Amino acid sequence: MKILFYDTKKYDKESFDKALAEFPDITIDYCEADLSLTTAALSKGYDAVCAFVSSDVSEEVVEKLAACKIKLILMRCAGFNNVDLAATQKYGMTVMRVPGYSPEAVAEHAMMLALAVNRHVHKSYIKVRENNFSLQGLTGINFYGKTAGIVGTGKIGAAMCKICQGFGMKVIAYDMYPNKSLDFVEYTDLETVLKSSDLISLHCPLTKDTYHMISEYTISKMKDNVILVNTSRGALINTEDLIAGIRARKFFGVGLDVYEEETNNVFENREEDFMESSITSRLLSFPNVIVTSHQGFLTEEALLAISQTTLQNAMDFVENDFNEANLVKP
Ligand code: NAD
Repeated sequence: MKILFYDTKKYDKESFDKALAEFPDITIDYCEADLSLTTAALSKGYDAVCAFVSSDVSEEVVEKLAACKIKLILMRCAGFNNVDLAATQKYGMTVMRVPGYSPEAVAEHAMMLALAVNRHVHKSYIKVRENNFSLQGLTGINFYGKTAGIVGTGKIGAAMCKICQGFGMKVIAYDMYPNKSLDFVEYTDLETVLKSSDLISLHCPLTKDTYHMISEYTISKMKDNVILVNTSRGALINTEDLIAGIRARKFFGVGLDVYEEETNNVFENREEDFMESSITSRLLSFPNVIVTSHQGFLTEEALLAISQTTLQNAMDFVENDFNEANLVKP
């Protein structure tokens, strides 16, 4: 099994090289460029490609991969909203992913964002570096005794529910498929979650139904002074509506690990670029917003689990013995 690995970062190579020791039948060539219309042709001579959250796996790209006889797309992530599944089905390609490499890694990042915007850590860090020890503008709220509203209680949402419970919060949630193991969580409808929660954390996937689920209308349903955290996918939130809501002083704080228009940024150093969109700068112009770089997954444990599962997915494909949970079906 020869895999062409797109969008390689140093930490990818380190964790996959480590995991390869257990998979002698697999070889990987690492390519820095991401998968796109231009780079798809590089896959000629390989059995599979390995792609990531910002890879272009659109119909045109899938067509090019099929022309290069690629039969398997290994997504080294949980989300697959960037994959045109109708196209992969049309060309008889298998798509596999890593659904649950470390839900706690992402949930801990979500709580970190909630705490950081709540206690203004981003402001305080800069102030103290400048010998400004004033507490002006740094007042937060206790999470203890408040209500956390979790939207989507799959693997990551469930981990977030447990963290919030640990903080002494009342935990309510919305999911069409309630997670029966979360007996301390009160399930309710989305509107009730929005209007009752002091902290709202989004953990559902991006689908046709969830696109812009946070909009002018749903923001208007939220409590004033709510903290909103999104570690799921940027397009769950209509950013223009979010900005309007922030300007209208609706939010105590907003923590985003993902945001619309992030695709060209993930995970590049763009210090010298003229950005094509001003969304990030506009969001960061508000004192109560923190944006991180789609790094919720970035822990040593998660990276190792991602590489081991991706390589196991490749072997399962060779042996035609799939882990159904990792197969992405249209
Ligand atoms: P999961 O499949 O285990 O859980 C998703 C849950 O969302 C399911 O319980 C599902 O029923 C629910 N859901 C679906 N549509 C919904 C809707 N309209 N309203 C409410 N709930 C809905 O997925 P997961 O592993 O918990 O991951 C969740 C998301 O986190 C992924 O889709 C991915 O986009 C994102 N993610 C982000 C990072 C990061 O680094 N920031 C890393 C991994 C995953």
